[in-house]
Amino acid sequence: MTATASASASDTTADTADAVPAAAHFRFFTLEVLRTRRLGHSFLRVTFGGESLAEFRSGGYDQSLSLFLPVGEQEHTELPSTDEDTWFGAWRAMPDGIRPVMRSYTVREQRRTDGGEVEVDIDFVLHGDSSPASRWAGRAAAGRRIMAIGPAVAENKSVRFQRPEGCDAVLMYADETALPAAAAILDRLPAGTRVKAWFEVPHEDDRLGPHTLADTDITWIVREKAAGAAARTERVLSELRAARLPGAGAPYAWLAGEAGTVRAVRRHLVQERSVDRRAVRFTGYWRLGASEEQLLAEAYAGKAPSEDPTSEL
Ligand SMILES: Cc1cc2nc3c(=O)[nH]c(=O)nc-3n(C[C@H](O)[C@H](O)[C@H](O)COP(=O)(O)OP(=O)(O)OC[C@H]3O[C@@H](n4cnc5c(N)ncnc54)[C@H](O)[C@@H]3O)c2cc1C
Repeated sequence: MTATASASASDTTADTADAVPAAAHFRFFTLEVLRTRRLGHSFLRVTFGGESLAEFRSGGYDQSLSLFLPVGEQEHTELPSTDEDTWFGAWRAMPDGIRPVMRSYTVREQRRTDGGEVEVDIDFVLHGDSSPASRWAGRAAAGRRIMAIGPAVAENKSVRFQRPEGCDAVLMYADETALPAAAAILDRLPAGTRVKAWFEVPHEDDRLGPHTLADTDITWIVREKAAGAAARTERVLSELRAARLPGAGAPYAWLAGEAGTVRAVRRHLVQERSVDRRAVRFTGYWRLGASEEQLLAEAYAGKAPSEDPTSEL
């Protein structure tokens, strides 16, 4: 198991990163909280710094990374090993209650300050205190240190958005967990790119309009508070069914969010709208009722069915 494994992606589209051996694409970083800022109702932006970020190379778009977050009363993340060949076994062997949780998040932005230091923003959805990552973010304070496996080269497999040549429109579905990734993608799309996006959020105040040069038509879907899984998905599908797709028939679709809804949106596009399945990039960012440990355990046991988006975790 190498450092690349946790920043995993089972790629269905060709990537351009093959020139560099995969293990060199990712490495451990120490991230120190510099400040936090509340965005909208559900989001907290945590800005990280630290010397090791000098080597951090986000590829932009939906660049993800794996965070190791302390549990219980621990202030900082401590891992027994960050060696590429031994960290995984050493981390797994740590006792429950001490072992930091590993969670996937998105690099919303990497930038260099006037003083030459690298800063990285990550936007956390606060969805309750009983979930370790959400709980950690809600208590994040300047000076706290965590660890991450992140990109050491900009062209790496954790950038999943790979628009093929010849595509004439971009279709996007994102729920709140994937809104930071969607916004980072829209940041980069050139002027004139036709985009139709469906963004599903829990609260009116979460409609954080992305800044983009692209020609973007966004449908915001504010979820009913007590809606169950089937009702959530059905609401999204009804918005999709009512929509006219842009372009002349060669769209690229990028879908990310709750796994069940992502799967249903993909099926709609492929089966009801005849979108080429090879032009659909879909990733389950989380699954209702399952923690990331459970999803990882399924993936390691090879139980995640290949059509299930969570098999990308
Ligand atoms: C590639 C990738 C990029 C991601 N980027 C981001 C990001 O930038 N920002 C972000 O906030 N999330 C992001 N996520 C999703 C995030 O990893 C999950 O939401 C994760 O489960 C949060 O961990 P936790 O410890 O809070 O909850 P867990 O312990 O994993 O889950 C506990 C319970 O909470 C539920 N749950 C998990 N997430 C949510 C949620 N958002 N709302 C309601 N219930 C939830 C689970 O179904 C489970 O029942 C990303 C995921 C992936 C795979």
